[in-house]
Amino acid sequence: MHVSVDLNVCQGHGVCHMTAPDVFELDEEDGHAIVMVDPVPAELEADAQLAADSCPERAITVS
Ligand code: SF4
Repeated sequence: MHVSVDLNVCQGHGVCHMTAPDVFELDEEDGHAIVMVDPVPAELEADAQLAADSCPERAITVS
């Protein structure tokens, strides 16, 4: 699974980091999401998918 964040859409709510802390971290300066692991290892795929489904801005794409 690949995961990416559209930084033009991301508003830095941090839901992704709370949902999948091993996949997303937040930029210390602007709060935008940073993908830490891509491709996503199998054991983190469910967390990454949940984060994508939970993002209020629909900024996360999984493929
Ligand atoms: S939940 Fe969505 S909008 Fe919020 S920081 Fe993560 S990618 Fe950005």
